[in-house]
Amino acid sequence: MSLWIGPMRVHLNGHKELTSHNEIVTVKPKGEVFIPLNVSMNHRAEVLVKEGDTVVVGTKLGIGPEPFAIPIYSPVSGVVGKVIQMMHPWLKPTDHLVIKDDGKYTFARSFDPIDIETADRETLVAMMKEAGLMGCGGAGFPTFMKYKNPQGIETLIINAVECEPYITADYRTMKEFLDDLVYGTRAMLKASTAKNAIIAIKKNKHELCTKLQALLVNTPEIKIFMTPDVYPMGWERTLVYEYSKKRYDRLPSEVGFIVNNATTAVSFAQALRQGKPIGEKIVTISGDGVKHPVNVRVPFGTKVSEIIEAIGGYSAEDVHIIAGGPMMGKTITTDQFVITSYANAITVLKAQKIDPLPCMRCGRCNDTCPACLLPVRINNAEEAKDLNLIEKLRADQCIECGLCSYICPSKIDVTEGVRRAKRALQLRKK
Ligand code: SF4
Ligand code: SF4
Repeated sequence: MSLWIGPMRVHLNGHKELTSHNEIVTVKPKGEVFIPLNVSMNHRAEVLVKEGDTVVVGTKLGIGPEPFAIPIYSPVSGVVGKVIQMMHPWLKPTDHLVIKDDGKYTFARSFDPIDIETADRETLVAMMKEAGLMGCGGAGFPTFMKYKNPQGIETLIINAVECEPYITADYRTMKEFLDDLVYGTRAMLKASTAKNAIIAIKKNKHELCTKLQALLVNTPEIKIFMTPDVYPMGWERTLVYEYSKKRYDRLPSEVGFIVNNATTAVSFAQALRQGKPIGEKIVTISGDGVKHPVNVRVPFGTKVSEIIEAIGGYSAEDVHIIAGGPMMGKTITTDQFVITSYANAITVLKAQKIDPLPCMRCGRCNDTCPACLLPVRINNAEEAKDLNLIEKLRADQCIECGLCSYICPSKIDVTEGVRRAKRALQLRKK
């Protein structure tokens, strides 16, 4: 079954001007980083170091179990501490390995650099795995798994759309490392066996597109694909449809595509060129809940509370902290969690008291859903705890884009109801 794509008409106020023109600020941890040991929601890495060991940037700290057997590297130099439990942006407490940062950032090469002109496909895929590359679009899925056994892949899509409000981390990363974006795209293209690649980018990014076009002048197999400025254009399914008018059931590979985020391509290029795994991240810290919205460069494993303090603090006492953007991110009730190797943003919004009105049956949420669901009916079925109806209404296909809440004139948090319905279905399956 191929899933339908709903109308893509919603242009959101991006608030991107808050951070898109500001210089990136480097923030160092205050003395410790906390490295999440989970390489996926349900897979914890085996720790390869012990308390008291000395480590440098690039020391292998652990490795995940099959099929997620990717390594975790130290982003700082220092001494290994204990394993403690902390909240994770996946909204559950997980084990984190403490590294006491000596502030020197001594570096040892983790693997040899690779030249993509001479390397074969298998070597490039092995490098994706060895570098511990995880998708930087927010989901944190090991990248090599998409490339392990590519069958019938025609086109690689590098997703530089970044359609969520407030987030400009990809944009700033691309601006700073445009050459790496092209190099990483070429490497991924070779690894994918696809015939061509597109870099999908919103059409309002004129300056970036012009520079990118100049870099691609001798690379005819990679083209720029400009997308409209609507939400959620960065969703894989929407992007594949916008480019090809093809729909798929589970994975883009069913219709001949691999999709990766632009920052993942940059990270891959840096691993190939420098023999260095991802140690630091460019992350957008924005929203009306912080005094000085900005993109920061931090070692992953840095606490969010320390970053907010370093950039000037909160602008209000009562704020909502969201790991990710305001539409698809997860609200976390504490700032005692860390930047992961695949994080792209922390959005902080002033808390607002919202008194929802009764549903006026306007149908706007149904008309807007990009997954062609009936959010209001799912919400009602969830309230009635009617699991059979929830299943029939395909709540499991919700991508949690947040549009049904955003669009609702009665200010009903429809998305939260659909999320609860999804979770109820998942629990029934267990
Ligand atoms: S969050 Fe709402 S609009 Fe978005 S996919 Fe889910 S049901 Fe549809
Ligand atoms: S948009 Fe809001 S008011 Fe309109 S049908 Fe959906 S839930 Fe009801």
